[in-house]
Amino acid sequence: MIYLDHAATTPVPQSVADAVCDALVNHFGNPSSQYPIGREGKGLVVHCRETVAAALGCTADRLAFTSCGTESDNWALRLAAWQGRHCGKHIITTAVEHSAVLEPCRQLEQEGWTVTYLKPDHNGNITAEQVAEALREDTALVSVMLVNNETGCVFPVQEIAKILKDHNSKALLHTDAVQGFLKIPFRADTLGADLISVSGHKIGAPKGVGALYLGERIKNPRPLLAGGGQENGLRSGTEATAQLAGFAKAVELRRDGLDETLARMAAIKAYAIDRLLAIDGVERVGNGAAPHILAISLVGYPSANVVEDLGAQGICISAGSACHRGKASHVYEAMGLSKKVKAGVLRISFGPETQESDIDALAAALQKHHDTRFPML
Ligand code: PLP
Repeated sequence: MIYLDHAATTPVPQSVADAVCDALVNHFGNPSSQYPIGREGKGLVVHCRETVAAALGCTADRLAFTSCGTESDNWALRLAAWQGRHCGKHIITTAVEHSAVLEPCRQLEQEGWTVTYLKPDHNGNITAEQVAEALREDTALVSVMLVNNETGCVFPVQEIAKILKDHNSKALLHTDAVQGFLKIPFRADTLGADLISVSGHKIGAPKGVGALYLGERIKNPRPLLAGGGQENGLRSGTEATAQLAGFAKAVELRRDGLDETLARMAAIKAYAIDRLLAIDGVERVGNGAAPHILAISLVGYPSANVVEDLGAQGICISAGSACHRGKASHVYEAMGLSKKVKAGVLRISFGPETQESDIDALAAALQKHHDTRFPML
């Protein structure tokens, strides 16, 4: 199998699976229990929090674990809306956020909030000036993702933070960094965002674990789950120690030699751009700079057919976000792509192990699809 869909999810390395299994079998104690195996569980949670926080660039007390990126995003929006409700009921976000941000925004609209959805340009980019123009006295929250999951475009979150500061805005800044964590260099303590969402399964951890960074401007955060007081009272529920152990191990693996890994992925992406754009009818979609995501279009060839055809040959790519389940992508729609380009969009996403030979196989399969199938009319 040739797996080129790392933005959807990532393979779990054996050493990560071993860490999960070890926690499940050998360190199963409840971290709240007061005997040795419970204390071991607690120690494991402390170690995992310190490991993930260090990789994110913050102290452990600023990090709450969640069950996924979606939960982190939902929580961040709710929490910011609660804290900012006295300053106003206006939110700025982008039309190309993941549905884990857009859907909570829609819920908030139903509760009387106003949301401004910034439109990207034709290449999928958003500028900090757009945020400045949309900013109002009553803006309580700005939520702009760090890396778009369908185009790989990197958004100027640090510049947006500066704009909010320069305008003396009370608005909190959230960024969905699910596709940015350990894929582009940034540190939570210097990015300027108040809330940062990340997810484990995009970096080799098991599915079902994520985290939310809460910066110092977050005052008396509203707990997501009330109960036994875990996660510093913010998200009760017995800690998912095995998932956390896998998260920490995956972070350790990616963190070591990160610069070289990212440089290798960028080189593979450059190679893919050369190889794939040489195929008749292939165009690049957007100009995303993240090293692991490339969007192209086999113009006029319905992407669902391409994904299925290649899948049958053991090549896994995607027609866009894995979360769309066959619906047209709001991201490519917002970019204003023509009907035929939009119909043929394919997302190829790379991991640390992706080889040039994987790209060669993909190029050959796409060329064959182009030569043997009919495009739409
Ligand atoms: N945000 C972005 C940008 C994503 O790409 C994804 C997953 O594809 C999510 C949020 C949701 O993360 P999770 O699958 O961990 O819920």
